[in-house]
Amino acid sequence: MSIAPDTTVVLGHRFAAELPEIALRWQAEVAPDPRLLVLNEPLAAELGMDPGWLRSSDGVGLLVGTRLPADAEPVAQGYAGHQFGGWVPRLGDGRALLLGELVDAGGQTRDLHLKGSGRTPFARGGDGLAAIGPMLREYLISEAMHALGIPTTRSLSVVATGRVVQRDTPLEGAVLARVASSHLRVGTFQYVGAAGQLEVLRRLADHAISRHYPGAAEADNPYLALLDSVIAAQADLVAQWMLVGFVHGVMNTDNMTISGETIDYGPCAFMDAFDPKTVFSSIDSWGRYAYGNQPSVATWNLARFAEALLGLIAEDQDRAVELATESLQQFAPQYSAAWLAGMRRKLGLGHDVEDGTAVQLTEDLVELLDSERVDYTSFFRRLADGVIAPPFEAWASRWRGLSPDIDAMRRVNPVYIPRNHLVEEALAAATAGDLEPFTRLLVALNSPYDERAGFERYAEPAPEDFGRCFQTFCGT
Ligand code: AMP
Ligand code: MG
Repeated sequence: MSIAPDTTVVLGHRFAAELPEIALRWQAEVAPDPRLLVLNEPLAAELGMDPGWLRSSDGVGLLVGTRLPADAEPVAQGYAGHQFGGWVPRLGDGRALLLGELVDAGGQTRDLHLKGSGRTPFARGGDGLAAIGPMLREYLISEAMHALGIPTTRSLSVVATGRVVQRDTPLEGAVLARVASSHLRVGTFQYVGAAGQLEVLRRLADHAISRHYPGAAEADNPYLALLDSVIAAQADLVAQWMLVGFVHGVMNTDNMTISGETIDYGPCAFMDAFDPKTVFSSIDSWGRYAYGNQPSVATWNLARFAEALLGLIAEDQDRAVELATESLQQFAPQYSAAWLAGMRRKLGLGHDVEDGTAVQLTEDLVELLDSERVDYTSFFRRLADGVIAPPFEAWASRWRGLSPDIDAMRRVNPVYIPRNHLVEEALAAATAGDLEPFTRLLVALNSPYDERAGFERYAEPAPEDFGRCFQTFCGT
């Protein structure tokens, strides 16, 4: 006798219950003709959901937010944010909904969230919708980041809605189901902080501590400990972005999580040729969010987080500023340590190599990469294979003298990253109805360190004529 899979989905509503001031009850718009385009079966299993059921019409109804468990309380979350440095007091989920919280197989609470599910009271002038291309893009890149071992929100599914979304041209709409350890952002704290309600702010901070940094509750000053924890998580995260050549593209404070997960894959992209000035976003003409600026932008954002928390850190404002400033000063050393540790792994350096030697070697390498504009990702794999371009010879002989562990290098330097030309090719085909290139690229990206026959072109840099004019677009 076979046992029918348990299809009960339990969606908690702890966020909505604890923070009603910033949770607006709302419902997803009906999708006229929902079609499941992609389902993340391993993630579904991790969440205790039956993939077979998710493919059924009830399951797809859950994934677009129109068939929810009876006691679900979907909400649009309020938040504020600094966008490209300018203060926006009210942003919020304009086209997104928090369906509720799930407890995964490991006992962790995870948000189930939709993007592209229709207008909410936070929509301002927007239509509340998303097109297939950008939602598949978030799916692909977030899953690639996860496979690279970088903290990130995950993608559970993309469902085409059958609704027309008007952009420059008419496009088909889609809803992405996103899974995150929470959707608390720096902008969430700014929203509550700016409203001046200390009691709500304390409840928000307690909620964040309990979900992400329970140890902070035991500290002498839990809210300062929360700040320290977020600084440490972000220092580590941004170091990991830098080590793989990831450019987030729109590091506004509403796109920076408290958990330390990468969130909001809009105009993000991976750098091909090494260049700290790399910027892809069409709306970032000043290069505020260029590759090389990301650590300093993160510090700036964290200072905004600290400002929002000041009232909780100490009663005396000057004392609060003093403590927060001390904490913020920890970002730079923590970031540098995480980056150096990562570079040591990329170069296969053993523990016997002193930090001073490693620092000199990596600094010289960055200078060479910058002047030679070589493909960043394949450089490290080629180095492991002993393929070294003439300008790097002198440097490489110093490196060889440190007896690098070549096998260890192959375990940490990816062969496959979501290169822009491959992503664009896969999305163009998917938008035209052919998901095969998307699926195949996903297979390559799901095991980024494992070089496989038949996937050669996925390891190659972009053709000469592609890179220079490549731009990504925000809010599409
Ligand atoms: P993002 O650029 O995705 O981080 O979004 C910034 C803000 O704009 C958030 O408040 C979003 O909810 C909102 N937003 C982006 N696109 C739309 C849209 N098509 N309709 C309504 N709101 C949107
Ligand atoms: Mg956002």
